[in-house]
Amino acid sequence: MTAYRLAKAGVRVLVIDAKRFPREKACGGGIQRRASLKIPFEWDSVVHNDLRALSFSFGLGKRFTKGYEKTLVYSVLRAEFDSLLLKQAERAGATVWQGCKVTGVESGNSTGVTIQTERGEVRARFVVGADGANSIVARHLNPRDNYYWQAALYCEVPTECLNPGTVDSERMRVDWGSLPSGYGWIFPKKNSANVGVGCPASIARSLRPYLLRFLQAEKILRPGAISRLKFSGHQLPTLTRRTRLSSDNLVLVGDAAGLVEPLTGDGISHACHSAEIASDSILNGLAGRAQDRPSYDRRIRDEIGIELFWARQLLSLAVAFPRILYELFEHNDSVWNAFCGILRGEESFRHLRRCILGPFQLLWTPVRYFAEWHERGKLELHSLKVKA
Ligand SMILES: Cc1cc2nc3c(=O)[nH]c(=O)nc-3n(C[C@H](O)[C@H](O)[C@H](O)COP(=O)(O)OP(=O)(O)OC[C@H]3O[C@@H](n4cnc5c(N)ncnc54)[C@H](O)[C@@H]3O)c2cc1C
Repeated sequence: MTAYRLAKAGVRVLVIDAKRFPREKACGGGIQRRASLKIPFEWDSVVHNDLRALSFSFGLGKRFTKGYEKTLVYSVLRAEFDSLLLKQAERAGATVWQGCKVTGVESGNSTGVTIQTERGEVRARFVVGADGANSIVARHLNPRDNYYWQAALYCEVPTECLNPGTVDSERMRVDWGSLPSGYGWIFPKKNSANVGVGCPASIARSLRPYLLRFLQAEKILRPGAISRLKFSGHQLPTLTRRTRLSSDNLVLVGDAAGLVEPLTGDGISHACHSAEIASDSILNGLAGRAQDRPSYDRRIRDEIGIELFWARQLLSLAVAFPRILYELFEHNDSVWNAFCGILRGEESFRHLRRCILGPFQLLWTPVRYFAEWHERGKLELHSLKVKA
C-alpha cells in the first residue's frame, strides 16, 4: 500500500517480499469497513461477503444476534486481497522482487539505508519495514518487549468440510469469555469459513484446546473433517509507549510498527492508514522538507496510537469484567451503535468508553487501574494453571 502510494506520486520504488504471490497469510480475512476507507482503488472483485450482523456468545453458552443497517466487515481471502494490492503497486510503477528474503538492515543515515537481500545488497534513500509481525526491519529498532503481543490460531475450512446450514453467509460469529482474555471467530467466505481463536501471547498454550471446544460447540464440521484441516498460528503485535516507529530514513508500517488494534484484532485498517502516513512523510523527506521523521512518529501516535491505547484499556476492562461487553452489546443500543461505528470508521474507542461508562465517567481512572491490575492477575493465574 505504501509502495502503491509512492509509485503513484512518481517515486522509484522497489518492493521486496520473501514469498511468491498469491501466498497464504495467517488472518481471519475480516476487513472492517474502516480499513476500506484507506484503500485508494477498487477492490470489490476480491470481496466474498458483506457482513452486517454479529452472533455473539459468552463462554460458548448463551448467545444473541444483532445486526446493523450498513456493512460492518467485508470478508476476503488474504491470498486474493494481498495479490490485488501487489498488482496495484506494480501497475502504479513499483518494481517487485518476489521470493526474495531481506536478511539484514544496516543503520541508516541522512543519505540512505543499505539492506541485505538474497539477491544482494540494495541501497535506498528510504526503507519502509512492511514485513509483518516478525519484521527484520522492526527488530533493528525494537526488542520484542517493546510490543504487547497476542497470538492466534486459524484455519480456512473449505465448504466440503462444513455441515450444511451451520455457517450463515451474512453473519460473523464471535465467542468471548471462554478464556480469561481472548475470543473465537467464524467469518464466512464464498467457499469456506475462516475459523480461529486468539488471546494474549502469555496464555497462547490455551489456544488449541479452546479451538477444539469452539469447533465442537459450533458443530460446523462434518464427521472426520478435522483430520483434513491444518491450523496455523501467528502473532499480533500492538505498540506500546516504548515502540520506536522510525529512525534515520527508516519507517515501520502495519504489524512491524505494532498497529494491531487489540480488542477486535483488526490489523489491516491501521496497516493501510500507516501506509498513507509513511508515504506522506517520505514524500516530504524527498522534497527536502525537514521534520519528516518526527512528524511520522507524531502522526502515527496521534492518528492511530491513541485509538490503540483506548482499545487496549477497554480490553483490560472487558477482561476484568468479562460479561460487561456481552451484556452491553445485547441490551444497550448506544454501546452497540458505538461499536458498529468503530468497525465502520465513524466512531472512536474513546466514544465507546463514554457510552460504556455512561454517568460514571469520573470513576474511569480508578476503574482503569483496577481493571489493569485484575487483568494481570487473571492472566498470571491462568498461565500457572495451564503449566500445572
Ligand atoms: C490468525 C490471525 C487472524 C487475523 N485476522 C485479522 C482480521 O480478520 N482482520 C484484520 O484486520 N486483521 C487480522 N489479523 C491481523 C492482520 O493479519 C495483520 O495485522 C496484517 O496482515 C498486517 O499487514 P502487514 O502488511 O503489516 O504484514 P503482513 O500481512 O504480515 O505482510 C508482511 C509481508 O512481509 C513479508 N516478509 C516477512 N519477512 C520478510 C523478509 N525478511 N524479507 C522479505 N519479505 C518479508 C511476508 O512474506 C509478507 O508478505 C489477523 C492476524 C492473525 C495472525
